[in-house]
Amino acid sequence: MAVETPRHSAVGGLLHYSHHQDLPPGTLVRAPLGRREVAGLVWGLSEPEPEPVSAASGGITLRPLGHALHSLPPLGAEWRALIEFAAAYYQRGVGEMALAVLPPELRKLDDIQLARRLARLRKMQVPADPAPSGLERHPTAEAPTLPALSPEQAAALHAIAAATQPVLLHGATGSGKTEVYLRAAETALAQGRQALVLVPEINLTPQLEARFAERFPGRLMVSLHSALTPAQRLRSWLLAHLGQAELVLGTRLAVFASMPRLGLIVVDEEHDPSFKQQEGARYSARDLAVWRAHHQRVPVLLGSATPSLESWQRVQEGRYLRVPMPSRIGGGAMPRVRLIDMNALPKVPAGSERVLAPPLLAAIEARLARGEQSLLLLNRRGYAPVLHCGACSWKSGCPHCSAWRVFHKLDRTLRCHHCGLTERVPKACPECGNLDIAPIGRGTEKLQEQLVSLLPTARVGRIDADSTRTVGSLEQTLQAVHAGEVDVLVGTQMLAKGHDFRRVTLVAAVNPDGALFSSDFRAPERLFALLMQAAGRAGRDAAQAAASEMWVQTWHPTHALYAALKAHDYEAFATAQLKDRLAAGLPPFASLALLRADARTAEVAQAFLKDAAAMAREYEKVTVYPVVPPHVSKLADVERMQMLVESPSRVALQRMLADWLPGLHSLRAQHKGLLRWAVDIDPLAI
Ligand code: ADP
Ligand code: ZN
Ligand code: ZN
Repeated sequence: MAVETPRHSAVGGLLHYSHHQDLPPGTLVRAPLGRREVAGLVWGLSEPEPEPVSAASGGITLRPLGHALHSLPPLGAEWRALIEFAAAYYQRGVGEMALAVLPPELRKLDDIQLARRLARLRKMQVPADPAPSGLERHPTAEAPTLPALSPEQAAALHAIAAATQPVLLHGATGSGKTEVYLRAAETALAQGRQALVLVPEINLTPQLEARFAERFPGRLMVSLHSALTPAQRLRSWLLAHLGQAELVLGTRLAVFASMPRLGLIVVDEEHDPSFKQQEGARYSARDLAVWRAHHQRVPVLLGSATPSLESWQRVQEGRYLRVPMPSRIGGGAMPRVRLIDMNALPKVPAGSERVLAPPLLAAIEARLARGEQSLLLLNRRGYAPVLHCGACSWKSGCPHCSAWRVFHKLDRTLRCHHCGLTERVPKACPECGNLDIAPIGRGTEKLQEQLVSLLPTARVGRIDADSTRTVGSLEQTLQAVHAGEVDVLVGTQMLAKGHDFRRVTLVAAVNPDGALFSSDFRAPERLFALLMQAAGRAGRDAAQAAASEMWVQTWHPTHALYAALKAHDYEAFATAQLKDRLAAGLPPFASLALLRADARTAEVAQAFLKDAAAMAREYEKVTVYPVVPPHVSKLADVERMQMLVESPSRVALQRMLADWLPGLHSLRAQHKGLLRWAVDIDPLAI
């Protein structure tokens, strides 16, 4: 039996219980654990005299199960295999993994309540009543007319149909990848199978949902993501599990959807870091999608204009099939990339500040005059990243984190983007009383304000985590952009993802250099993907493509990353990066795991990791690196430390971790003040 055991108790931990009848594996049950009753899943039947497998079952008489939820069809063998793999790979308990990915509502309902719900859903062949909140889309009578495929799309579908390995659909922005997904889904559905489509952020892709709904009238589609209410999530999950829903569209958690007739998995924007879960079981939905598809022998399509270097390397090794679609639909050119050398600009007079380089400003003004739109990318929200007192050099640090608090001018607050602490901006310096405290640096709020005063006739919009906090505000702004009610749109990376803007002819990266020299080895890869994505927002209308431009303000105009961007040459960029990664022994040529410890003091966190390292010394082919603080070492009054474990062999690393980590559970007791420890397999941020 897999039960939900508390985090970081013994890894593995299947428990034994008795029951008056044999229950099929995959049955949802309630089981006593200590004095509580927890949710569990039957994992297998024991021999008549079971060996106690864990301390928790104690080797004494088996406890009887609570009750079984017979009305729910048991979770299938393939779903259980996925959970077992994920639990082993990400070093979690099977029960912990299983229960973490099931809808939480399943825990609350008893068998009778569940039976009632299931009966209602089973009757629902094709939805008739309009559902609230876009949870399901509805049939219209007439079948949609299909667009004629471009030659590249046709060739891609041909290659996909013949492929026996995972397919990397390497399609330029605007090459029509979605149409390929739609056709692949059509094939699966025609065979009576279900299709699973994973996207990085469902809130940013209502367009994708709409296109699937339009293409498949009369087919039931459900979405699965964290923005659903618990009841909606349960409903979507049950419809997929019953096989009623033929299309499941979702974010990373949807990779665990139970789909008895799964026939296709699509991972759109496969390079996107959002596919990696950042807490609990830190799984990669992209990697699990590939495993699941392989295990169930169904096709998997990974789509991107800028594939992750992991996927790209697998293509080089022949493990994935690359299917290229280099041209944009309609034959439009990619926007011309213009690098502005910031070193070459004339100095601004002391006391004044340059908003944008003069040629960029002129180019935006020209767009404005022609009624075209411009997008300005600045990856920093708020007004200014820090407030500063010139008299005593006080800075707006967060008292609970090793980070600055960001100045937000609109609501006059200082906000910590790490722990959320929000206070009104002080009238005077809290240290010396000086009234003249000033912002340093610039975020999206300030850029928007500057543009409003610089371009008085322009309508300047903004999209970032602040401007989109309230429900519906993102849709509203996007709608305004599509309707042509915005001339200049300022925003963070949220802007760059997937939107099919038709009137944008200029995209500019205002200050992207930081990532070139970051300590995070993945920063250049992410910057390149972001800039290529952003460039892809310009000139999506083929008629305007020729006049479209991507501007980059940089102090390092000769950097190789920008040269590759200028040539729209992903391959050159990937080849250069992979060479560096190989030389440095970094992924995809090495496997990494990150052991993290949180404690009240840095000393305790460090001592725990050091002792852990001492226990790990004897493993071959595995290197344990020294303990270091992460980028933000204190967060919400918790001191954090981490330790990297690396091996050229994934198998060797897995073996070492499985051997090493269980011992750390008992080590924990020797370190008073240790709050928690966790392991992150294939960490994205180091
Ligand atoms: P990508 O996801 O590769 O960036 P999209 O799937 O958004 O590209 O396609 C870009 C545009 O081209 C969309 O507006 C889409 O409707 C259109 N499109 C795609 N395929 C075709 C086709 N075969 N014929 C006509 N238009 C197409
Ligand atoms: Zn001061
Ligand atoms: Zn803070």
